[in-house]
Amino acid sequence: MFENSQESRTNLSELGEFGLIDHLTKNFSPKLESTVKAIGDDAAVLNFENKRTLVSTDLLVEGVHFDLSYTPLKHLGYKAVMVNLSDIYAMNAKATQVTVSIAVSNRFPVEALEELYAGIQLASKIYNVDVIGGDTTSSTSGLMISVTALGIAEEDEIVYRDGAKPNDLMVLTGDLGAAYMGLQVLEREKEVFKANPNAQPDLDEYTYLIERQLKPEARKDIAPLLKQLNVRPTSMIDISDGLSSEAIHLCKSSKVGANIFEEKIPLDPAVISVCEEFEIDSTMIALSGGEDYELLFTISQDDYDKIKGNPHLTVIGHMTEEKEGMHLITRANQKLPLIARGWNSMEDKQ
Ligand SMILES: [Mg+2]
Repeated sequence: MFENSQESRTNLSELGEFGLIDHLTKNFSPKLESTVKAIGDDAAVLNFENKRTLVSTDLLVEGVHFDLSYTPLKHLGYKAVMVNLSDIYAMNAKATQVTVSIAVSNRFPVEALEELYAGIQLASKIYNVDVIGGDTTSSTSGLMISVTALGIAEEDEIVYRDGAKPNDLMVLTGDLGAAYMGLQVLEREKEVFKANPNAQPDLDEYTYLIERQLKPEARKDIAPLLKQLNVRPTSMIDISDGLSSEAIHLCKSSKVGANIFEEKIPLDPAVISVCEEFEIDSTMIALSGGEDYELLFTISQDDYDKIKGNPHLTVIGHMTEEKEGMHLITRANQKLPLIARGWNSMEDKQ
């Protein structure tokens, strides 16, 4: 839970609810011109002039979305912000402000929440967003974090899920599967630790995977990159639940089909080797793993030359007529139907 487990502990009741939020946000000062009033009044005041405003919200619940036995609170705060910024970036927009609300049980001392807010503050600094409000309240068990992100874009810059056309190319940022395999490594180490609390895990070879799980980065860089390349995606979504379910969302919203080529799906070498170790198929992990927070988008074939060879972007397939359906074309040239087996906290979709 803590980065430094030696420090003293202050009970939450010593500060009280109002003292607590003041205490946790005392170092948060707004940087953006659009933030007219941040924390400190009954409501925040924003001024986006004539831009479109985007809003996205997420709720993270202990035991459902995160496990504090291996998640440092600072990372959790950072990730809670990332998850939301990713949704704003998935609209080809710029994230500007966040609100953060938490419900917390009294098993958490003030210092635990300071760690959580340090992660939130770090994310807001790196991603240049203002924290403009929120609430803290008590919970009978566990920790819940709700983040709402706001963003801005010109009306004609916003990219929705429903604009893909047959023959458009399907493009992915970064690589897939690492966050999910990081989680598998952490879960395995948790079991080892339970069996033998003196075991000292050597996780060096899994650094990339664990970082992708515990401290993901949202793709703030992609909207400006596409603008610079003079490419406007026809549709876009972020990868929170795995490639296959996100591709299905794009296809269904756009009323098109798709072919994704297995050999084109970008995987980090660390993912390939850990999948061998766990005896899991790496393509299945890329399709169904989730929490990568990369962006999946479609572009017109006319724009191919503009993105060709870009190290951030990989063409993994193309859209087809709706009646052709959604498929994975395997390395052996088999055509398999794409199924939404993406990670889902509520239910198993398949
Ligand atoms: Mg999303």
